Amino acid sequence: MTQQANLALLKNIRIVLVNTSHPGNIGAAARAMKNMGLSRLYLVEPKDFPSLEAISRSVGALDLLDNAVVVKDLAEAVSDCVWVAGTSARLRTIEWPILEPEECVQTSLENIEQGDIAIVFGRENSGLTNDEMAKCNALLHIPTDPDYSSLNLAAAVQVVCYEYRRALLSDKISKKKGNKHRFDALANAGQMDGMYGHLHDALDSLGFFGVSNPDVVMRRLKGLFNRANVTQRELSIVRGICSAIQGKKLKR
Ligand code: SAH
Repeated sequence: MTQQANLALLKNIRIVLVNTSHPGNIGAAARAMKNMGLSRLYLVEPKDFPSLEAISRSVGALDLLDNAVVVKDLAEAVSDCVWVAGTSARLRTIEWPILEPEECVQTSLENIEQGDIAIVFGRENSGLTNDEMAKCNALLHIPTDPDYSSLNLAAAVQVVCYEYRRALLSDKISKKKGNKHRFDALANAGQMDGMYGHLHDALDSLGFFGVSNPDVVMRRLKGLFNRANVTQRELSIVRGICSAIQGKKLKR
């Protein structure tokens, strides 16, 4: 692939900012994206947007703010994405493979020909919730000093966008791309959400949750599926099993 064709892939990468408090950070994130050639900004319930401060901090990246997609929750921001990474300053202990930026970029680019990729950034004061992380295939952690690990939101966006540009300018990436899933489309986040709802209901109808907390059990199951890059065919088998549990007739 030519460098130009590689860089064209940047339009399939979206940056999602969740519940951002300071509009200046939205502007600075837009500027960081545009410097690296990314253009698709999604804002989940921003506290203050549109805003003059965002405009002023974006400097020349006003077009990204104008075209930003504002949505009500993370599910809506990523429903059509085939691979999602949640970023965190903290190394959480459960479910998600922890990737550093270069590894995250490589892994996501292996899936990019199947659909859009999302990199999700959390709130300035509290990051992403565990439920939001449960929508992600991996946790992206920028290795910082563990004693002072939290980067400014826009600085974290800058590091990730730079890593995408650097990877796409190098040849290494194009050789790895397209190796996987050539024969079967990946399920997107919206289809995975539908399956999780179905699985929850099917397990509930069996009385499976018993005394355990269904949210915790489901979060662990989501972690299991999210690590597996589930294809659409695999997803319909799981849904078929759920329907069978619920005693529904299978369409064959
Ligand atoms: N106090 C919050 C930090 C929020 S910083 C917490 O403990 O989670 C705001 C956002 O910037 C984070 O949600 C994450 O998206 C990003 N970020 C900051 N530092 C990061 C790091 N070292 N690695 C990856 N993302 C980081």
